Amino acid sequence: ASSRPAIRTTCAYCGVGCGVLATPDGAGGLTIAGDPEHPANFGRLCVKGAALGETVGTKGRLLAPRIQDREATWDQALDLVAQRFSETIAAHGPDSVGFYVSGQMLTEDYYVANKLMKGFIGSANIDTNSRLCMASSVAGHRRAFGTDTVPGLYEDLELADAVILTGSNLAWCHPVLYQRLAAAKAARPEMRIVVIDPRRTATCDIADLHLPLAPGSDAVLFNWLLSLSPLSPFCAEHVSGLDEAMAAAGQVDVRETGLDFGLLRQFLAIWQQTDKVVTVYSQGINQSDSGSDKVNAILNCHLATGRIGRPGMGPFSVTGQPNAMGGREVGGLANMLACHLELENPTHRAAVRDFWAAPGMAERPGLKAVDMFRAVEDGRIKALWIICTNPAVLMPEADRVARAIAGCDFVVVSDMFATTDTARLAHVLLPATGWGEKDGTVTNSERRISRQRRLLPPAGQARDDWRILADVAVRMGWPDAFGWQGPAEVFGEYAALSGVAGDLGSDFDISAHAGIDAAGYEALQPFLWPQSARRQGGRFFGAGRFHTPDGKARMLAVQPRLPEPAPDALPFRLNTGRIRDQWHTMTRTGLAPRLSRHLAEPFLEIHPEDAVRLGLAPATLAEVENPAGRAILRVLVTDRVRPGHPFAPMHWTGETGPSGRVDALVPGLTDPVSGQPALKSAAVAIRPF
Ligand code: SF4
Repeated sequence: ASSRPAIRTTCAYCGVGCGVLATPDGAGGLTIAGDPEHPANFGRLCVKGAALGETVGTKGRLLAPRIQDREATWDQALDLVAQRFSETIAAHGPDSVGFYVSGQMLTEDYYVANKLMKGFIGSANIDTNSRLCMASSVAGHRRAFGTDTVPGLYEDLELADAVILTGSNLAWCHPVLYQRLAAAKAARPEMRIVVIDPRRTATCDIADLHLPLAPGSDAVLFNWLLSLSPLSPFCAEHVSGLDEAMAAAGQVDVRETGLDFGLLRQFLAIWQQTDKVVTVYSQGINQSDSGSDKVNAILNCHLATGRIGRPGMGPFSVTGQPNAMGGREVGGLANMLACHLELENPTHRAAVRDFWAAPGMAERPGLKAVDMFRAVEDGRIKALWIICTNPAVLMPEADRVARAIAGCDFVVVSDMFATTDTARLAHVLLPATGWGEKDGTVTNSERRISRQRRLLPPAGQARDDWRILADVAVRMGWPDAFGWQGPAEVFGEYAALSGVAGDLGSDFDISAHAGIDAAGYEALQPFLWPQSARRQGGRFFGAGRFHTPDGKARMLAVQPRLPEPAPDALPFRLNTGRIRDQWHTMTRTGLAPRLSRHLAEPFLEIHPEDAVRLGLAPATLAEVENPAGRAILRVLVTDRVRPGHPFAPMHWTGETGPSGRVDALVPGLTDPVSGQPALKSAAVAIRPF
């Protein structure tokens, strides 16, 4: 054990946002432990977090800027980026450029990118891989509550008498939150846990009831539940739209869920007889071409029964990435302004413009992720800056997206690594600091803002994303607005803007930290926002007004849309998702050998009936194909999946043995409200390889 003091920071990976105690060993390494005082995890870590110390260092890192594959100085690279963006904007207008950013960026990075694009370039063409993760929850929250606010806290999962998990494999995707739930269940075995998922996932290990519903039928199930829900007096006082929502709910045919009536009756009894219910939902709900409606179908049930904003109650969307929530707050999406202000609202736009002293605010929403890459493909976007993400692997129609990036006039990629599928397509590569090398903040799924802290020196010449963006902004002619000396100043400005937003009625309020100094920033403890009297024990809405004009939450009349039947030539519906021990395209987790012990290569979970029919023996290879792409995957025969609905993980690229590029198979279909792609469903053909 080292005698050096441990540094408090936050995990690099999922939206649970666990506190980490990291102790530098003085030789470039780190010892990692869970932070017993962090309210997200109280000392727990999952295997990914525990292995963080094995993922630092310079192995495989991009150590210096590159222009067209040749090493360059920072000045040369930054001058070129500023010049090409300025020239493109001058010739073709602000909407001819775009930023594609990431839920793994720190809030300070996000703030600067958003300020540069929306306030100074004057376009809202900045979108993020968080569009792929939780945009449907954002849209659902805004429609129901008037603001994108998660109403509950992690402790609500422990305080509930029933927890419903729908479209969420919490055990693998949010492991420490799952551990907290499992511990609560062990302490109170009478707590009911219901898992709603077409797959029998690891989360079912602690479930009293598993509902293996037909894929895509979630809104049918929740509408049916609503139609039989006990109505609460809360609903009469605080909610509008009940009659319309009930009328729509009464029209569904619950047989479309494919669920056995015995299971449905058990589920209904738990729902009707339990007051303290939390419904956790995640990508299985969001990643759908009707994801927003599915979210509202869930919110409707909680609003009708008044199970919201009180201990042990509420709908709870859990975010995938470490700072997906921070990105929502800071306006990192193409249709938002910072601090929950609205891009479509002229008063909000004017307030932000005045605060920034901005020359040319964006006046309309920009292109959302899928549309942004379509615009790259057809030449409407001529200069693209991709920061901290790998869209050539993770976007739907990933091969098409890779071709679009390859055909773009000018592509800048800021990353830690030069070897990602996206980085290889860049004209200019900018080395970025990564986890452990930079200071900033992140917000977890329960709205808790925590510090990430610098533990080690930057690798090579790597710089922080906020600084790279600011340096380009200065070169584009805006030195006064981008002249911060450090991330504390960026955060202090952001916090001051939240005060302006609060005056306009926004619920996002961290203005207590406006103008924070470096020492205060260094000492910043994890905190929930808002830090004002509007908060009720950290929960929202229990006795208060919602952020709608009449102060009432809105129930929506949800008309469920079931997936189109698969075409004859592509008879299987491929489901995609995460595995327990890897993260995104494995650029970091791939550095820790022990994280490959669990599942070492890309695979296809397929039902025994399908495997027999196709002649696929266990552990052989399957070719999975459709017109958009192709993957070669190891066959894993299991009845955890339904016949006709195989599953494959999303993490592997084309470089690691059999090609695991499963997002190449996913169509570019999006939810019309949120713009979130339907990553959970790709029509494919499967054959032995
Ligand atoms: Fe990190 Fe998430 Fe694991 Fe916590 S649960 S240690 S935040 S990956």
